[in-house]
Amino acid sequence: QLLRIPTKVNPAWCSSSSYSSSSVSTTKLFIDGKFAESRSNEWIDIHNPATNEVVGRVPKATKSEMETALAACTKSFRSCSETSVLSRQQIFLRYQQLIKDNLKEVAKIITLEQGKTLADAEGDVFRGLQVVEHACSVTSLMLGETLPSITKDMDTYTYRLPLGVCAGIAPFNFPAMIPLWMFPMAMVCGNTFLMKPSERVPGALMFLAKLLQDAGAPDGTLNIIHGQHEAVNFICDQPDIKAISFVGSNQAGEYIYERGSRNGKRVQSNMGAKNHGVVMPDANKENTLNQLVGAAFGAAGQRCMALSTAILVGEAQKWLPELVERAKNLRVNAGDQPGADLGPLISHQAKERVCQLIESGAKEGASLLLDGRKIKVQGYENGNFVGPTILAKVKPSMTCYKEEIFGPVLVVLEADNLDEAIEMVNRNPYGNGTAIFTTNGATARKYSHLVDVGQVGVNVPIPVPLPMFSFTGSRSSFRGDTNFYGKQGVQFYTQLKTITSQWKEEDATVARPAVVMPT
Ligand code: NAD
Repeated sequence: QLLRIPTKVNPAWCSSSSYSSSSVSTTKLFIDGKFAESRSNEWIDIHNPATNEVVGRVPKATKSEMETALAACTKSFRSCSETSVLSRQQIFLRYQQLIKDNLKEVAKIITLEQGKTLADAEGDVFRGLQVVEHACSVTSLMLGETLPSITKDMDTYTYRLPLGVCAGIAPFNFPAMIPLWMFPMAMVCGNTFLMKPSERVPGALMFLAKLLQDAGAPDGTLNIIHGQHEAVNFICDQPDIKAISFVGSNQAGEYIYERGSRNGKRVQSNMGAKNHGVVMPDANKENTLNQLVGAAFGAAGQRCMALSTAILVGEAQKWLPELVERAKNLRVNAGDQPGADLGPLISHQAKERVCQLIESGAKEGASLLLDGRKIKVQGYENGNFVGPTILAKVKPSMTCYKEEIFGPVLVVLEADNLDEAIEMVNRNPYGNGTAIFTTNGATARKYSHLVDVGQVGVNVPIPVPLPMFSFTGSRSSFRGDTNFYGKQGVQFYTQLKTITSQWKEEDATVARPAVVMPT
């Protein structure tokens, strides 16, 4: 067992439990600049997915703790809205360096609580770090617009201003990257932030909060509460919260979008996916098969941009045996073990669900070419492992096609030509990501233009845009109208104020009241 949250010398955000005799450390709340033990009597166990050992506990924050956290956000907004944009930029310049300096340490916590391999966990932190780096260009991103001399002596200009208190609700699969999509963009724009991480993986965010404090963020500008439904309802209902960023499943995301919007808040909700990789027969076979396998099974398929569905077009259908061979060669192991390509699923329940979906595919007539359900990982017999699994001859009517599996399972469909493949992808309700593999530019262009999916890769299996762009999933993968990070992120966390002013050199007297609209 390489990884453990230290129990003797605890970091600031965890402590040995005081509410029970167990030596398992507990995750604190982060309120008004202090890491504070919750007084809750409801706690959730955090498991190492590779062993199912309990490695920590997280509280369901009490109502009064949530209120105190929100009050800290509200109070600090009043003072921090007076701070200069340059001082906020300086905090995030220091923050990006601190994240770089501690990247490997944050990654270890991710592997412990989430299960992904250490290399992949480092990527998780790194992709979040890129958003922080981008946030440092706030002085350009927050510029307003000006139009001088719209009439004599009159100018119009806009300010881009923060909203107030914003909140974030995050999923388990990217414990660092997804919170980093949220609070840095919001805070650099001058908002304060209430964050609720996934109750299954709170450690990385707590570490990141400590680093933000070390970077100089004033007390109360970022506050963290823990919990599940009650914490989510609190965020949706409190009038002081002006905007909610959510990432997670459709079940939670649609609910939060509706409840938050009904209460007059801005909500952006990034949700589930079923991403198709269309393989044309003219594609570079070697690259395509490697990319497909990496993108389907990496992170045990627990990525919203995992390429979980392949459509083999025409002659490319003959590549299936080689695809299976490559998938077989992947090494399944605990995330901290050298050479591991994929780790376990997040929970025992997630494993059960994935296995049932594999079973449903086989029962509904798909060919189970590779079955990872019985995999044994030596030394980790209690872990939630599922090996790479391939279901071929899948039809759109099958449950394994209709549902997001979120496990290391590639479902393979067939199409006779590009048009048929495009139609198939467009009929699927999700629109998060897709990729086409081809060496023909015209084919790639046609696909990119006709496919109704928000993020398209051409020979790029996981086309997650860098933060100078935005994360633009569409259709059932997104609710809201303004996306995460990039220019859209700044738009989401700010509002415009438009000022029209007239300054005459000489104070000419207005002769009569103006009773008609000026033209
Ligand atoms: P989840 O919806 O179970 O949990 C996300 C958050 O919502 C957690 O903080 C959780 O406490 C809360 N929550 C869970 N159920 C709730 C409910 N019924 N009511 C209110 N709140 C609830 O998601 P997850 O299992 O942590 O993450 C996996 C899902 O996230 C997948 O569907 C994946 O596709 C999606 N995801 C999407 C993106 C994207 O950008 N589109 C990125 C990452 C993950």
